Amino acid sequence: MPDPVSHSRPAQKRLTVLSGPSGVGKSTVVAHLRRQNPDVWLSVSVTTRRPRPGEQEGVQYHFVTDEEFDRLIEQGQLLEWARFAGNRYGTPRRPVEERLAAGVPVLLEIELQGARQVRESMPDSLHVFLAPPSWEELVRRLTGRGTESEEVIQRRLEAARIELAAEKEFDITLVNTAVREVCDKLLALITAPKV
Ligand code: ADP
Ligand code: 5GP
Repeated sequence: MPDPVSHSRPAQKRLTVLSGPSGVGKSTVVAHLRRQNPDVWLSVSVTTRRPRPGEQEGVQYHFVTDEEFDRLIEQGQLLEWARFAGNRYGTPRRPVEERLAAGVPVLLEIELQGARQVRESMPDSLHVFLAPPSWEELVRRLTGRGTESEEVIQRRLEAARIELAAEKEFDITLVNTAVREVCDKLLALITAPKV
């Protein structure tokens, strides 16, 4: 006899974590992927960083004060959080849990320390590392984006050395040479059934 409960609930879908050094192209890849497949749900993080020109509240991030971020931590509302290059970033817990329970594939685009926390709390999540074709190309992309000061770029490059050294902690590496190609591979991983 089939279990009636398992019939009435959608299957739990996979949580995918995409990580990689600043400037490698994570946001570019994710934006492309969502245009291609709007069914994948991307978590909107909270951050204490100031919005860049063109960024909108609730779209790229929820922009919060230090006090608001403290409160979210105290109330246990973050699935993970980390300090990165002078600011704090975190994933709101409830929306992620709700989407997964509803059978929607969820994508988190977060840095290394957060990825490690998710690995601990959700061991069956899939962790994908986005790598640059070379160090020189990473520097070119980060500098070419033109959104950060020289000091912030240096901080992010310091963090990038640490992130690149942690590549082997991830389940799979995708090299971001061509956005379209990376997107196709990432989409296949996100929508693959859980093993
Ligand atoms: P991240 O989100 O990882 O910090 P971005 O998505 O902001 O990185 O990309 C950094 C810069 O690199 C942007 O100017 C973007 O247009 C560029 N970029 C992203 N992917 C590629 C690629 N495959 N080839 C060339 N440039 C890229
Ligand atoms: P940026 O300031 O360039 O938008 O993001 C800086 C870094 O923070 C990137 O590596 C990005 O992936 C990461 N990040 C964004 N949101 C979160 C989050 O919710 N948690 C963690 N741990 N990192 C995040």
